[in-house]
Amino acid sequence: MTGCLGVKQDVIKQAHPAVLAITGPHDTPGVMKAVHQHLPPKPHDPYTDLIGVKLTPPHYAYLKISEGCNHRCTFCIIPSMRGDLVSRPIAEVMQEAGNLVKAGVKELLVISQDTSAYGVDVKYRTGFVGGKPVKTRMTDLCRTLGELGVWVRLHYVYPYPHVDQVIPLMAEGKILPYLDVPFQHASPRILKLMKRPANAEKVLERLQRWREICPDITVRSTFIVGFPGETEAEFQELLAFLEEAQLDRVGCFAYSQVEGAVANELPDAVPEEVKTVRKEKFMLAQARISAQKLKRKVGKTLRVLVDEPGIGRSSADAPEIDGVVHFKGGKAGEFRHVTIDRADEHDLYGRLQ
Ligand code: SF4
Repeated sequence: MTGCLGVKQDVIKQAHPAVLAITGPHDTPGVMKAVHQHLPPKPHDPYTDLIGVKLTPPHYAYLKISEGCNHRCTFCIIPSMRGDLVSRPIAEVMQEAGNLVKAGVKELLVISQDTSAYGVDVKYRTGFVGGKPVKTRMTDLCRTLGELGVWVRLHYVYPYPHVDQVIPLMAEGKILPYLDVPFQHASPRILKLMKRPANAEKVLERLQRWREICPDITVRSTFIVGFPGETEAEFQELLAFLEEAQLDRVGCFAYSQVEGAVANELPDAVPEEVKTVRKEKFMLAQARISAQKLKRKVGKTLRVLVDEPGIGRSSADAPEIDGVVHFKGGKAGEFRHVTIDRADEHDLYGRLQ
């Protein structure tokens, strides 16, 4: 097991005594040591030994553009573990992206803790990509990644105003028309308690504008229900927002305390049973919205990236977290066209063309 929580080895060992090794974030040598310990290396191969650790299938890869975060959302302990935002130089990110594409990757998933803040810490320093000056900034990164000719999908995009500038790139087909924006709530009071500087009304206006510029855009988001102090009226406000926003993909978490989070000190904790009921209501409402939205795709022909024979993803589907497209045939890693025959709450079903 590796990642943020890896720094708390004892917590993991207690819950999962069978885990062989635990490492913290960015500890590639630690991961490799554990892998070699439990899976001794094969004889040296001068070709494959030069390839770094990649834990995804050959046709897609995550591209981490920065580490850490300058926000201090009260429910989150990531900044205390990973520190403030540190952006990777644009040249280095593009070098990695180019290498992945040369190695056969067809889809790059841009990740970070806060993708839209990319470059803020280095004052959008100019780097050089293929001899051309490019700024360490999300919009420039998207434009440059869009020239690689593969799918580029953006995750964890905090809705800063400049995010609007990447929507035309989506409309032009340079990057996928897909935006993963964690809104977390819709009530201004709860957002304030969460220390998230968002305003639900403006979010709705912007969603409308994004859809006008790029009608095919898929918007994914995550929400927390049962945050300390959330009243029934504020939960209803969230449900009303959900109806209005008509988001394509939504994840929902019932609030739970994380050791060290500021929100633990907030009064009026919501009882567990109330959180569970709210989460169920929220997911039911979204399932209906999602089913209606997917139904509109019946009869259309979509380009999909095949993950394995019979299963692929369209521009609207990020791996692991969204739905998929089912069909007969296909080979992993190839782009195909699928005509959609039917839909359910999460997935589409169709025929290969
Ligand atoms: S929830 Fe996201 S934006 Fe907020 S502090 Fe944590 S990593 Fe940063």
